Amino acid sequence: MSWPSTPKSDYRPDPSSEYWDAHQETRSPAERREDILEKINEQVRYAYDNSEFYREFYADVDINPRDITSFEEFEQLPILRSEDIKQEQKKHPPFGRFLCIDEEDIARVYGTSGTTGQPKVFGIGEEDWNRIGEWHAQILWSVGIRPDDRIIITSPFIQYLGSWGALAGVDHIGCTTFPFGAGMEGQTQQAVEWISNLQPDALYGTPSYALYLGETAKENGYIPAEDFSFKVMFFSGEPGASIPSTRQEIETMFDCEVIDQGSMAEMTPWMSNSGCQHLDNGMHVWNDIVYTELLDPSTEAHLEYGEEGVPTYTHLERTSQPMIRYWSGDITMWERHDETGCDCGRTYPTLPKGVYGRVDDMLVVRGKNIFPSEIEDQLHALDDFGDEFRIVVEKEGALDSLQLVVEIADNTVTSVDEFHDVVRTAIKSEVGVTPNVTIVPQGELDRTQFKADRVKDKRDLAVDI
Ligand SMILES: [Zn+2]
Repeated sequence: MSWPSTPKSDYRPDPSSEYWDAHQETRSPAERREDILEKINEQVRYAYDNSEFYREFYADVDINPRDITSFEEFEQLPILRSEDIKQEQKKHPPFGRFLCIDEEDIARVYGTSGTTGQPKVFGIGEEDWNRIGEWHAQILWSVGIRPDDRIIITSPFIQYLGSWGALAGVDHIGCTTFPFGAGMEGQTQQAVEWISNLQPDALYGTPSYALYLGETAKENGYIPAEDFSFKVMFFSGEPGASIPSTRQEIETMFDCEVIDQGSMAEMTPWMSNSGCQHLDNGMHVWNDIVYTELLDPSTEAHLEYGEEGVPTYTHLERTSQPMIRYWSGDITMWERHDETGCDCGRTYPTLPKGVYGRVDDMLVVRGKNIFPSEIEDQLHALDDFGDEFRIVVEKEGALDSLQLVVEIADNTVTSVDEFHDVVRTAIKSEVGVTPNVTIVPQGELDRTQFKADRVKDKRDLAVDI
């Protein structure tokens, strides 16, 4: 095996082909595991030989990081967390000692926004960036994107890797690409006009933004399902595309297929979790592109199929800034490929409910574990929902109080009182806690042009006196 692989810049399958690489995508899981283990061995040895950080990080392990011969050995390597990256990059700015190539060979620099503290920095070499483009192309092929498609990207072209990763993939396929962006004042209004004018076949963005775009189109006299010609929308950055009612709402609004995608910016190629054009909900885990383990949130023990835990990712072919056993902090549940029953024929594991929360986002209210995505699912399933909501958790005396602010649709005949009771009953039956509900008119709550921020947990701020 030659490691790392060389991207084949001019390769494209026949447009009628289901697969980019039929053997890779449909081989038996056992055969795939052999290939993954070889790549893990090469990747870990490379990182150990070239990164002072990893030599220190693995100083106390009982196995030889230069010769990993089994998954059991690999699982003895310590888990890398976000905090480890931040501390290392603080001590050795800007990249930390993760970097395995010369700084002058970095082609792209990306990072996290740092809104919740110190930003993380990702240096990506040219060959790595080309491989990311090729893998994203391969995965987007499974989504149904083809060279004659016209694509609009409606997420911000800032340090957010989502936009750039989607762009690299559609460019590699050879699509006609319109990197429109988002986030500027009045840009959504313009997006509606451009979409009407250009009639793109596909859109990339966030699910929240797609709903906002649809609402804006309607306010301007368009009927998105009739006046636009989207066949598919692919999303990342939020769980919405695998929340059944949100997904259904977007599919109905635009009369198109919705595809969920995404892992972590640290791990780009982040499309290694992706729906395909046959999967009704959720994502396949392309674990021969980014190796993925599912670990128990508390004990870090390996979880079998059918269980819920934290996806932990390992680059398999990264020469610039490899991430090995990177703890995502997300929560998901996985299934064996043959339990999912997807018609595509791929033999990857599947996350049937997508990535539906973060360990840190799980709200524990009166002893119940609640993910904001569960509340979103219930609300979008209600006919009179006005498309936006907020969750506030506070202390009321000794008890936690779950408060919801929910918009009621403009065009409904249902009264506010009736809708209030419907919301309260629906949420109580889903999460087991009766919420205090406030109903507000549609349009009252701010819309997002990027990722939604709908949850406020005020309990940490409470001071007992
Ligand atoms: Zn599939």
